[in-house]
Amino acid sequence: MWPPPDEELEELEAVQPALPPRSALFSLKPIGIGTDQVEALSSYVTRLAQAHSVSPRRLIRDYLRKMAPEPENMRWLGHTSQQMSMDGVGKFNQFLIPLLEELTSVKSLQYLTLLPLAELLPSNGPHQLLRHPRWCPDCYLEQIHTPNEAHRHLLWSLTLYRVCHFHSTVMLDSCPACGSYQRYIPILPDLVHCGRCGEPLTLAQPEHSQVTEMDLWKSQALADLIANLAEIPPMLARENLVAFLDRLIRLEVDGKPYPFGHQIRFILVFMGKWITAGKKLSLARLLELGYYAHTLPSVMLIQGAHAPLDPTHFKKERVAIRTPRPSLGITEREHLEQDLSRIVNDSADYRSVTEVARTLGYERTCLQYWFPKQCRAIVLKAADGRRQQCDARHQEEQRLLVQIVKDATTGPVPLKQKQIIACLNDKGLYLVRKDLGATFRKCVEEGADPPE
Ligand SMILES: [Zn+2]
Ligand SMILES: [Zn+2]
Repeated sequence: MWPPPDEELEELEAVQPALPPRSALFSLKPIGIGTDQVEALSSYVTRLAQAHSVSPRRLIRDYLRKMAPEPENMRWLGHTSQQMSMDGVGKFNQFLIPLLEELTSVKSLQYLTLLPLAELLPSNGPHQLLRHPRWCPDCYLEQIHTPNEAHRHLLWSLTLYRVCHFHSTVMLDSCPACGSYQRYIPILPDLVHCGRCGEPLTLAQPEHSQVTEMDLWKSQALADLIANLAEIPPMLARENLVAFLDRLIRLEVDGKPYPFGHQIRFILVFMGKWITAGKKLSLARLLELGYYAHTLPSVMLIQGAHAPLDPTHFKKERVAIRTPRPSLGITEREHLEQDLSRIVNDSADYRSVTEVARTLGYERTCLQYWFPKQCRAIVLKAADGRRQQCDARHQEEQRLLVQIVKDATTGPVPLKQKQIIACLNDKGLYLVRKDLGATFRKCVEEGADPPE
């Protein structure tokens, strides 16, 4: 007979540790919340896909969109040109973030975006988010050599953040090996390799030139804003900013008006009226205000009227936070129009607007502002070219597959199917792709005859 159970032991057995609720997706912890190195939501989604060994685009298309209570609200996620708004104030984030939080059981994902500033910033402010994210190779290298995984900082999605404030170097926006821009949501779940050629983005040499004091100040002010996203009261940020402006405008030193210039005083009064009327403020305007008043953006938004102000440090001259658009002379405009018309009419030229702008020595946004019709035509032609290139590549790969299968089955020692598939994989031909799989099955059925 067994001895009677020990009372103490029975008690211990009775205490069952509570298991945390299971999440549908891996509960991946976001990196750097509450710091200036916080990752962007697009980076988090890419790492989430990496944790599940799937393509980030597949995760979005085949899972997130299907799991959404109203899939219509997630349609934008399928468009690569819209995916940048994932890191911003876009209204669609109000659907995406609760869905991701529910599926991963991770909270506070709104701090991976600009959503905490939704009351203050416009959803699609001019020059708020970059069309293609930039990166700092030195920061990537440091991430790889620390326990943290490689991640893209939220700061790197902001247009005004041009210089890395850790390394004082100009951020990169195109692959040093093939010159292509990177996507917010890449095809492969990899942030540190080029989405087109696969070369490491960390090998790039950062540019040390053209870093101005203003660039560094902007980067530091933005870093301060991002690091304090969780501290800024979302519903009070607007009120605090109005109170700060009010105090600034009324500030007197020894009974005299504060030492701002006339123009700046006018701008501040106008800005105050604008915000009070419920209008949104661009990120550039917010930084401009901070620059004049020698105050960091988070201090204005958190402390409001109680922010410490020192009139001896106020700026008296106007400074453009955003790079001004260059003015075009009549002759220059005519030449540029001719160049663009020539590109539009050249059926063999499939360059994108960004590539054309780079060749002509202008910003893409400037070209689109000056010549919207021609730029639209270039966009459509580039998409057409990419489709044609893709079709041609697929046809070439199918021809190669047929040749390999034919050689393998008609040689002196015919290979087994497994060996043939291994040969195909060595050449980068994977049968998981629908067209290659269908061609392979057809070849095997028809005795390696090329398909019609
Ligand atoms: Zn850096
Ligand atoms: Zn590349």
